[in-house]
Amino acid sequence: MRAPFALQRRYIGLAAIIALNAGLLGACSSSANTLPLTAVAPDFNGRLAWQYTRKAVSFGPRPPGSQAHARLLEWLKNELDGIDWETQRFTATTPGGAIPMTNLIARFPGTERGVIVIGGHYDTLSNRPDFVGANDGGSSTGMLLALAKHFAAHPPEGPSVWLVWFDGEEAMRKWVGNDHTYGSRALVRQWQTDGTLARIRAVLVLDMIGDRHLNVAYSSTSTPWLMALVCRQARRIGAGATFCNYTKAIEDDDAPFRAAGVPAAVLIDFRYGLLNEYWHTSEDTMNKLSPESFRVVGAVVLATLHVLAGIPPESRDEAPETQEGHVPERSDRT
Ligand SMILES: [Zn+2]
Repeated sequence: MRAPFALQRRYIGLAAIIALNAGLLGACSSSANTLPLTAVAPDFNGRLAWQYTRKAVSFGPRPPGSQAHARLLEWLKNELDGIDWETQRFTATTPGGAIPMTNLIARFPGTERGVIVIGGHYDTLSNRPDFVGANDGGSSTGMLLALAKHFAAHPPEGPSVWLVWFDGEEAMRKWVGNDHTYGSRALVRQWQTDGTLARIRAVLVLDMIGDRHLNVAYSSTSTPWLMALVCRQARRIGAGATFCNYTKAIEDDDAPFRAAGVPAAVLIDFRYGLLNEYWHTSEDTMNKLSPESFRVVGAVVLATLHVLAGIPPESRDEAPETQEGHVPERSDRT
């Protein structure tokens, strides 16, 4: 039951104070946040994901079209040796001119029809020479590679899993009009044309998920039942303290899928630093990240996949969970 408006307002205000205090405590703490995941939490190698992220960051700034970007892509392909992968190359029309971009897709066949896509971007901001994007661009890159190793060793039971490293998520100049999400939009266009899109049951986008003070938003723009499912799984395995404790409207690589009618949600920590001050700055470096955060996010993703595999598509019309207590904030871009 929804609380009366006045009560909701008070509740939200209280939640904001609690959240701010939690953030202050978190930012002042010197130890990595070790979360007591329950025994039923899926096993995921967070250290491996963190190590892959460190490697990705070592290439330096990785904007589309740069040498570092090309070297990173070659390294990723080599790491996917023995795995079924392909690239989608396209030329993006950007305010900075035509830029060649590449999506990388790794496929893991499941035991039933349908596909669940897990994606994230591997490009970094193009207009900041000192920006190495450890969390923003790096963490999704490393996380997806660790998930690839996981599925290579443990093939999906249920729908197939396709991992997608999206190119060109970041704006080339400014996040207005179509100057963003070049890779995901190009992939949706191709999959619409060749009929692949009809096979996609759900899309989970990961972005900025390595912060040692993990705080994954409830994305109010994501498909409600899918976002609620992620939040429930986080709580179920003991990661509720770091998931869905504030609400944010997010534009990310999930948006083109939703626009095409595919359920899609983004898992993003948009409290990177106390006031998100590390975001899109030279402060976005490896020392802000922790293997533990990768482990937690990986476990939540695997737990969500497990439930998704058991839910027939026609029964996914449940209402989203209550929003009371979530703290509304203004829309931001990633
Ligand atoms: Zn970004």
